[in-house]
Amino acid sequence: MIDWKVTMLGTGSPRPDVERSAPSQVIHFGDLPVLIDCGEGTTAQLQRAGIPPQSITTLFITHLHSDHILGYGQFLLGGWGLGRRKLRVIGPKGMKHYHETMLSLFKDDIDYRVELGRSPKGVREEVEIIEIDEPGEIDLKIDDLPVRVYTAEMIHNVPTYALRFEGEDHVIVHSGDTAPTENIVELAKDADILIQDACLAVNETYKNITDPELQEIWDNLQKEHCTPQQAADIAERGGVKKLVLTHFLPNIDEERAYREAAAEFKGETIVAKDLQTINTALKTVN
Ligand SMILES: [Zn+2]
Ligand SMILES: [Zn+2]
Repeated sequence: MIDWKVTMLGTGSPRPDVERSAPSQVIHFGDLPVLIDCGEGTTAQLQRAGIPPQSITTLFITHLHSDHILGYGQFLLGGWGLGRRKLRVIGPKGMKHYHETMLSLFKDDIDYRVELGRSPKGVREEVEIIEIDEPGEIDLKIDDLPVRVYTAEMIHNVPTYALRFEGEDHVIVHSGDTAPTENIVELAKDADILIQDACLAVNETYKNITDPELQEIWDNLQKEHCTPQQAADIAERGGVKKLVLTHFLPNIDEERAYREAAAEFKGETIVAKDLQTINTALKTVN
């Protein structure tokens, strides 16, 4: 049996936060790390977690919001500098354009490094960008591991795909950003681990709103993300074993987020922190 686990690289949101880096997580299929999302700071977080950035050759992007992709330039070029010679990126429509824009912005820079003698493999060559046309199974081999990957469309203001990784012994699901939807309940069915958007965990700013502008933003955010309670309801109805809440604004009330989720969900609830690793084994309850 191959062990699967998760490293939470970035449990933050679009709001810059020294405690929480922008969204990015690693799923380890045995020794093989696969990256999901690439927010600002991802490459440094990989290094802090002891995962060589160049060892990542498969990257999934759930959607093209800035908080999930601003680290891509450094991941691509920095990882190439560290010796990555092949890369595959799977994401929504627009990923190709984003990747090509990065190559054209840094054309002279890449030319210079190639002239120095570095192989163009891993940046201009041997990079495959796969755009997801429609939800369902992605026909993909992850380095010959028996892992099937399924996607489902989420409720968010740009095309967003949740991901289900299914192996012989384990299932790990990542929601991306989403408001509550039956699609994530179905996709998360019987998962060992569900990494779930809980962006609407209450923080200092939104605890007592008096400013009408803030109130409007908070009200509108309800259409795009989940509260800890909604996240827990998804996990409970999906029969998930372990719920990992993430995508937090700065200074959330972690205890309150835990309480709100644990009241709904009978499995194990984790309010994730950066660089935390989570395995598929359940906590033994005495
Ligand atoms: Zn988003
Ligand atoms: Zn986001």
